Amino acid sequence: MDEPEEEDELAATSKGSAAVQGASVRGTSVARHDTLTPAQRQVLDLLGCPPDERPRFDADLRQRLLLDLEDGLAGVARRLPADTTLWVSKHPLTQVHGCEAKFVAEHETPFAWSAPLARGTVTHKAIELLVSWPGHPVPLDVVDEAIARLANDASHLGDWLRTCGDAERAALRGEVNALVVSFLECFPPLKAHWTPVTESRVRIELFDGRIVLQGRVDLALGQPAGQVAGKVLIDLKTGGFAPNHRDDLRFYALLETLRVGTPPRLLASYYLDGGRPSPEPVTEALLDTATQRTIDGATRMSALLHEGVEPVLRPGPACRWCPLADTCEPGSAWLGGSDDLDAFSG
Ligand code: SF4
Repeated sequence: MDEPEEEDELAATSKGSAAVQGASVRGTSVARHDTLTPAQRQVLDLLGCPPDERPRFDADLRQRLLLDLEDGLAGVARRLPADTTLWVSKHPLTQVHGCEAKFVAEHETPFAWSAPLARGTVTHKAIELLVSWPGHPVPLDVVDEAIARLANDASHLGDWLRTCGDAERAALRGEVNALVVSFLECFPPLKAHWTPVTESRVRIELFDGRIVLQGRVDLALGQPAGQVAGKVLIDLKTGGFAPNHRDDLRFYALLETLRVGTPPRLLASYYLDGGRPSPEPVTEALLDTATQRTIDGATRMSALLHEGVEPVLRPGPACRWCPLADTCEPGSAWLGGSDDLDAFSG
């Protein structure tokens, strides 16, 4: 009996919110809906959709997008040095569409784990555990289990978790606990039949693996039914809105379409600090925009990394975190004139 009623929750829309509340008067779901916070109800309203209102996409969309990508990137694949793979994912794409000098500098900097960098992965693991956690979860118990499982992995993150100091581990534990508490308070409890998947990896190989598009979706809910879209892709964010958050999810929507054939129904950045999703419906035009942005970004990445092209400097907010900030004149000038910094200067 529980299963169909719970499924209706995800099938609700803002119009369906009344339906949810109406249903709660009729049946056993009264207690369940009464236990949702207003923030949790709002998430259901914003992310849900009745099955008969979900969009249907053409069966040949996947093939068309693939051909568009291959047409746009054929020259890049031809020019790549032998035995070189061009890895394209959301972070370098965002970087190369910003300041190209920063993109090149960070590409050359070896990656090292730290508590802030590990925070996202540990939070996603904790959220994954919440789906099947028995009874009422105690957030710190879930966080500790997430850290323990990741520390057992034979991965770079596992190595770092096993060897980082107590202070760094405590900082990580505290930060992830705050995010998990926020998620529990503001996001509706995840139901197993919503098919929640955390950190699902997608990898699309073009030109026999010379160019690889890859991504890892924080949280996916729902599934398509044939050509009818049903999946919601969610990026869990700390901090506030940034325009590239939408571009990141559009890139994931493109990867999902290339993988499955039926695009996701909805994309949503979910801001843990504010407890609110920022949703965007998936359309064919959105996928075309994502395709062109991917072609432009990959072309530029290859030119900068493998063809000796000079990077373009684009000073802006990212100068604050740039490894070249101390020696870059346009960056220093931008930082010197930034109102944000002036507000904190003496
Ligand atoms: S300081 Fe700013 S302008 Fe200079 S390289 Fe870095 S991001 Fe680009």
